[in-house]
Amino acid sequence: MENKKLGFGLMRLPSLNPNDPSDIDMEETKKMVDTFLERGFTYFDTAWMYCGFKSENAAKEALVDRHPRDSYTLATKLHAGFLQNKEDRDRIFNEQLEKTGVTYFDYYLLHDINTHSIETYNALDCFNWIQDKKEKGLVKHIGFSYHDGPELLDKVLTEHPEFEFVQLQINYLDWDSAGVQSRECYEVATKHHKSVIVMEPVKGGTLAKVPESVEKMFKNYAPEASIPSWAIRFAADHQNVWLVLSGMSNMEQVLDNTEFMSDFKPLNEEEMNLIERAVAEINSTIAIPCTGCSYCTDGCPMKINIPKYFSLYNADLQEVEEKGWTPQGEYYSNLTKTFGKASECIGCGQCEAVCPQHLHIIEGLSEVAKHFEQ
Ligand code: SF4
Ligand code: SF4
Repeated sequence: MENKKLGFGLMRLPSLNPNDPSDIDMEETKKMVDTFLERGFTYFDTAWMYCGFKSENAAKEALVDRHPRDSYTLATKLHAGFLQNKEDRDRIFNEQLEKTGVTYFDYYLLHDINTHSIETYNALDCFNWIQDKKEKGLVKHIGFSYHDGPELLDKVLTEHPEFEFVQLQINYLDWDSAGVQSRECYEVATKHHKSVIVMEPVKGGTLAKVPESVEKMFKNYAPEASIPSWAIRFAADHQNVWLVLSGMSNMEQVLDNTEFMSDFKPLNEEEMNLIERAVAEINSTIAIPCTGCSYCTDGCPMKINIPKYFSLYNADLQEVEEKGWTPQGEYYSNLTKTFGKASECIGCGQCEAVCPQHLHIIEGLSEVAKHFEQ
């Protein structure tokens, strides 16, 4: 397995159209991929539906077609939400090979195991299926990403010791949170001797845009360190964490991440104390802890852009100045020309059933509607 603790998540690639993640800026993506490799990092993580189903194609164009196969490792995933029958597993897998242009995947994951998806994975025999792919050499290492509580994780790892690694959501805000329970899940994975890959170390950008008071606190201590570097170092600084994925969307992030991760320094006691203070401060200001994963948007009959609205709402509540006008209000109004308004939610609950953060989305949208529409 890899030595360096940083992976390139290909889920938030730079886009030429802010309302269309599939319109990937390929020239910028190529430069970002090249820089990442030049700086000695090798792990790339994509998935079937990232970037409006175009991330795997982008991996081919920016990475696979332009670099020797032994200079990088590629991970992708099978998502239960796209499986109707057993035939779909191979259909998707073969399309993934074609989309990415590789003949094997270094890492292959069952995507987002949780209370609902595990029924599909069991019913369609995906656990034996993924092992068979490994036996045939089409996949080198198998694992799964996970968004649920520690009890189910323990059950899955007990029943399936064949998995080599687990991908967990770990960041300093979720470490002790009741909803995500990162610490407990990490401890379960460690108990089962599984390596951990971290996803969402910056919590979908939330920990890159911390409240002003937290930013000041971090900057006073280390003026040169970027705000996201605190979050990524926290995630990497656990013995059993083998790799931290960062969903990078611009060159600035690639340069910053690869710099401080090339010479990774664990957090000292004083830095850990500052993070604890940051958690208390941020928890007092974030209204809706949405990570922006977008799992909820595909099935919404009203085409409501849930993550963008929540992000604008959170940011608006964190505005320190009283101006009577905020850019968030304007962004919201612009977005509702393309997407359904928060007030148009019909309460069908499809989004809540798939939200890995178990958010009360319907309630949240009602708050968003009150905030931005009235
Ligand atoms: S509950 Fe509302 S936001 Fe969620 S899927 Fe249904 S209409 Fe869309
Ligand atoms: S509401 Fe839930 S599913 Fe939707 S983007 Fe946020 S965290 Fe993801």
